[in-house]
Order: sequence, then structure tokens, then C-alpha cells
Amino acid sequence: MRMSQEFEAIKAAFKEQFGTRIDFLRDKEVYSTPLFKFLRSLPKGADLHAHADAILPIADQVEFLKDHPELVITPEWQIHYSGVGAPYGSRTMEECLAEGLTVEDFRKYWTVLGAGDQRTWDWFEGIFIKCGSICTSPSLVQDYYTRVLKYYHSIGVEHLELRCPFFGTREDALARGEALLRALQAVRAEVDPAITLRIVACGGKNDVWDPLFDTLMENALYVREKVKDGDENFIVAIDIVNDEDRSYSLARYEDRVRKIIAENPGLHLTLHAGESLSGENGEIAIALRCGIERLGHGFNLYRYPELEEEVRSKGICMEICPVSNAALGYCADFAKHPASDYRKAGIPLVICSDDPAYQAEEPLTGDLLAVAVGWDLSLEDVRQLCRNSIEYSFLEPASKSRLLDYWEKAWDKATS
Ligand SMILES: [Zn+2]
Repeated sequence: MRMSQEFEAIKAAFKEQFGTRIDFLRDKEVYSTPLFKFLRSLPKGADLHAHADAILPIADQVEFLKDHPELVITPEWQIHYSGVGAPYGSRTMEECLAEGLTVEDFRKYWTVLGAGDQRTWDWFEGIFIKCGSICTSPSLVQDYYTRVLKYYHSIGVEHLELRCPFFGTREDALARGEALLRALQAVRAEVDPAITLRIVACGGKNDVWDPLFDTLMENALYVREKVKDGDENFIVAIDIVNDEDRSYSLARYEDRVRKIIAENPGLHLTLHAGESLSGENGEIAIALRCGIERLGHGFNLYRYPELEEEVRSKGICMEICPVSNAALGYCADFAKHPASDYRKAGIPLVICSDDPAYQAEEPLTGDLLAVAVGWDLSLEDVRQLCRNSIEYSFLEPASKSRLLDYWEKAWDKATS
């Protein structure tokens, strides 16, 4: 009781100072508030929607690069594997820092902060091009995700469902899958035996990803068959990503997705759909036809009352990424974020981080803060959202109930 009153007090103080339009990249003071610190310390369950290689906070990314001189930074701020093909003038992170560059300089180029007058999505996709080569070898994958899982553990997150494409040959895909599993095993052994990681294998809808769709899915299924976490699947679901207002429609992939799901019992489906302000965007309807169990974003669902009812009656969980929605220009004021009404209508929600490396200071805490303040949530509401993140995860029943037990005890301890 005392804790929930205290929560109301620090939430009110936060709202007084910052209102409900919070800029998680510019308002540095947010991070030293009692509300942020409190939410940071809470056991949060899981992050069910975060994209590969876009997770480590910028300072940690700089640190990672410093530890890996096999990666260099080109004069265009692109991370590149050193050696053959590295453009003239490329430097290691150590050299960049020695020459006076700081974390803040990299923040300008590698987060949406640098977008300026450019359309945010264009700049944002450019960051993936600049930073997309950070995990170019299995050992880099292993080290990056060891750090990612340790980071999540440090902020009370015990399970990650990572959106990850499997580019390259089958062997490349397998090596990446095995490296991800090794990272999980290392963090379990070293830090926390309870931590879990599962992979949502991604295809994509833009011109770069589209020709590779079948390969990406075949690779994913190959890795699913070969890489297991004990006797449980490691690759648990598929998804299709990219800016949907300018990419191909999900309709282009519908038959193939349905076939993959039909032929692979137990493989889950969550699709990015409705990440749009448009009212003439039928993506959610197609996602529902494909048989999604969770909906990635679903931001514009309010425009389609019948679909909203379908999502509600089927108990489909929506993956809401508030900080990302703000960073990419869908919603500036969290009090007006439409998912507040989805929650009130009885649709189960989980709060997720999307691409925290490029959109915020760190994963997930800001997302919970945004909705706690914007939707005026009680501590009990926050508890329910955290609980949902385990309940609606794609973990198999034994792991799910183990994690729920673990989380419930941790929550009671943290809030008693
Ligand atoms: Zn996403």
C-alpha cells in the first residue's frame, strides 16, 4: 500500500516537471528523476519486441567498438569490418576517441537525434545502414548479445524476444543462431541462470529485403531445426518488418506466411502492422488473416473498429513501443497514444522497446515511464503490463511458468 502511494507521488512530481510530452533523447533530466529510477529498478519481465543489433545504449555501443578494433568507422560514420574494402580514412573507435570524438558525437550520427529536417524514417533507416555491420562475425554476435543480456538483467528484464534476420548462406545463418545461443549460455553461467532469449526471425518489406524474403525464411527454419535451447525451440516465431507506409504490403507475403505457419507446427506469428497514421492502410486486416498471435505496434487500429473488436475478442496481444512511436513521429504526447484506449477496451498489451539504441538512452524503462505518466497508470497497472510480457511471450509452458514464478517473487520483494 505504502509503495503504491509513493508511486503516485513520484509520478505526480514527474508529470508536474515534464508533462506528458517526453523527449527521451533530449530531456536528459528524465533519467535522474525518482520515477525513472524506480521503474528502472522494478522487475519488468520481458521485452518482446526489440530489433537485432539496435539495442545497446550508445555509450555501450561505443565501448563495444572500442573493444573490437576489427571494426572501424568510415568517414561517413559507417561501421565497417576492417581489412579489405574498408574505405580510406576509416578509423578504429580507439583512434576516433583519441582524436577527440565523444559519445555525444556518435549520438548525433547514430540516433534519431541527428535527423534534423530530414524525414525521420529516412534518417532512421540510414542508421541501420551505418550501424548494421556491428555484428558481422559470430564472435561479434556473441559478445554483443552477451552485453545486451547483461544489460537487460541490470534493468530487471529476464527475457528477450529478439527480432533477427538471418542473412547470407545457411551456414552464415546457423553460425549467427549458434552465437546467439552461446551468448545466452554465457550470461546464464556468469550472471543469472533464469535469463532467457528467444528469436523472432524476420523478413522485410522494402526493396532491399524483399528479394531475400524466401531465403530469410528458409534460413530461419534451418536454424530453428538445428539450434535448440535444451529441448526447447530457440527460433520461436516469424515477422516481417520495415516502414509500412512506403514498403510493399503484407499482402505480397500473405500466402507464403500462411504456408510457413501451416507447415511448421508450433512456430508462432507476430507481424508488424498498423505502424502508421494512415486510415487507408489495410495491414492489420491482412495480419489478422495470416493468423497472428501478437500484433507488432497496431498503432492505427482505432481507425478500424471492427478489427479492434476482432483483436479484442481473439485476445491478441499488442506489442506497444511508445518511445519508438514518439521518436518516429507517430505520437508526440503520450497522453494521446491510442493504445491507452486499446487497454481500456480489454485488449492485452505488452510494452516494448523496438530500437532503443537509436531511439533512447536505454531499453524499456522509458517505455514504461511514458505510459505510466501518459496514461496515468497505477503501480498495479504497471504490474499487469509487466506480467503480460511473460504471459504473452512465446516461451514454452514450462519456461513460462518458471519465469512467472521467478518474476512474481521478485516483484513482491521490490514493491513490499
Ligand atoms: Zn519493430
